[in-house]
Amino acid sequence: MKKSLEIWVFGDYRHPFPSRLTRQVIGQARALCGDHGRVTVILLGSQVEGVAREYIGYGAHRILMVDDKPLAVYRVDLFTTIICDLIRQYSPEIFILGATEFGRELAARVARRLGVGLSAECISLAWDMEQGRLTATSSAFGGQYLARIVWSPDLPNMATLCPGAFPERPYEGTAEGELVRVPNRWDSQSSKIRVLSSVYEAPHSVRLEEARVVVVGGRGVKNLTGYHYVRELASLLGGEVGATRPAVDAHWTSHERLIGQTGRAIRPELLITCGTSGAVQYTAGIRGTGMIVAVNRDPHAPIFKMADMGVIADTHSFLPALISELKALLFKEITELFRKQDKPDSREGRGMTFGQRLKRFREDHKMSPSELAEKTGQPPEFIEQVESDSLIPPVSFLLQLSHALHIDPSHFLTEQEKVQIDEKRHEGFFKRTQNYSYRTLTPGAADKHLRAFMVTIEPRETHKMIEYKHPGEEFIFVYRGELELTLGEKVLHLKQGETIHFDSETKHKLRNLSDERCDLLVALYTP
Ligand SMILES: Cc1cc2nc3c(=O)[nH]c(=O)nc-3n(C[C@H](O)[C@H](O)[C@H](O)COP(=O)(O)OP(=O)(O)OC[C@H]3O[C@@H](n4cnc5c(N)ncnc54)[C@H](O)[C@@H]3O)c2cc1C
Repeated sequence: MKKSLEIWVFGDYRHPFPSRLTRQVIGQARALCGDHGRVTVILLGSQVEGVAREYIGYGAHRILMVDDKPLAVYRVDLFTTIICDLIRQYSPEIFILGATEFGRELAARVARRLGVGLSAECISLAWDMEQGRLTATSSAFGGQYLARIVWSPDLPNMATLCPGAFPERPYEGTAEGELVRVPNRWDSQSSKIRVLSSVYEAPHSVRLEEARVVVVGGRGVKNLTGYHYVRELASLLGGEVGATRPAVDAHWTSHERLIGQTGRAIRPELLITCGTSGAVQYTAGIRGTGMIVAVNRDPHAPIFKMADMGVIADTHSFLPALISELKALLFKEITELFRKQDKPDSREGRGMTFGQRLKRFREDHKMSPSELAEKTGQPPEFIEQVESDSLIPPVSFLLQLSHALHIDPSHFLTEQEKVQIDEKRHEGFFKRTQNYSYRTLTPGAADKHLRAFMVTIEPRETHKMIEYKHPGEEFIFVYRGELELTLGEKVLHLKQGETIHFDSETKHKLRNLSDERCDLLVALYTP
């Protein structure tokens, strides 16, 4: 039997954030109807009975559930059709949704198709019994005003609700509710949306509002590649990414990342804002920031009036250069960690193993084990083993790191060692037939199993080729130039960036056939 006030809530259950917001919306729906109404959650999906029971525990009186495989992934056109048909069939007075990216999109379509009013991002809601309509409050003009909104007589009155503005009800495991299974009579083939793949984005541990560093990408980052630079920069700085409206509208990132009047207000210590003009609707959200660094190619862009530091540059040339510099610093930090393991009595090294340091370093940079693994070309288990000190990383790990981050491997060395080695290299250069030299990257490791060298073969010159043969294994990475490697009977050509790993018992000779200098990273394992 229909009660006096029928309120519908859209059950957006995908991931923890929407799920919580839906509980808040259910909580508000219960508060609205008091004892005189019914809260129905409309739930579309595949195998969602467990979710339905959960919503009952959080206060839903009834669940209208369409449970079918084709509904496993959200498709806004199909969901709009189903919801509109059900609303026409059951005629609820109110239909409210959480203001997630999907909720906003769905609400606008449903309201348009039914021809009813929709109030977005409400922070309070009340039901006017006499007039039989909702009244709502939502913020306007950069949050400086609160607008009071009422609906026209057409039903249902629709609204999206701001996250965090409404309390959820405590969970009651014993709560009882009605579960209505609606057969799926809708033709999913008629949807114009084809889902190619769906990837779960893990929720971020630090909220944008609490982040110490935020990097924002605006229209001036141009495209997804440009926004990728923004992500990379944020990740290197251990920060969060934000966006202006055009970047969100272009789907370079989700709506949750929007900064400004209709997005989030942030207060980071450092904000790097890239390709943003400085519109008031955006700057309304960055007023509490410590230092603002703006990157814009237009010297007259209004954002420079607000910035502490301005960079007049194209984002597509400046950001990759900055990222490269930061990677060099990052790599230096990792190699410093590695070096400290050999100096347990050094002040910073005391009491911490290499694995613990690496873990702390990774966490400080907000990298997951799989992200560091991806950056270094290792399986995630390798990183976990190194971090738990069950595996001492080989020098080749650091070499891979240098390759992955496109960094000069001489970061292995201290400044003093670099000077010493440069001197030695100079000596070596003259000692060894004027066109072939090497320097050790693992000084003091002459008696160790693993050693690494930077070998330089000067441009194409006729020089005496030395044939090597030694027990163990050898790893060569062509850092610059081209290499001819004669391995036993085989002659191989390796280009810049290529690597080879071989049994060093096999006779091998190295030669530079190009007109450019050839630099090699050579790691030797001697049993
Ligand atoms: C009611 C209302 C609410 C709004 N709420 C918000 C909100 O919450 N948040 C928000 O962000 N917007 C909001 N807007 C939109 C806002 O008005 C602006 O349109 C938006 O902030 C502009 O974003 P932008 O700076 O990225 O783009 P633009 O204003 O187009 O600026 C792009 C900048 O990039 C620079 N540029 C271009 N190419 C390059 C390059 N290659 N290298 C370097 N620089 C380059 C340009 O010189 C320009 O200054 C709202 C608008 C309205 C009407």
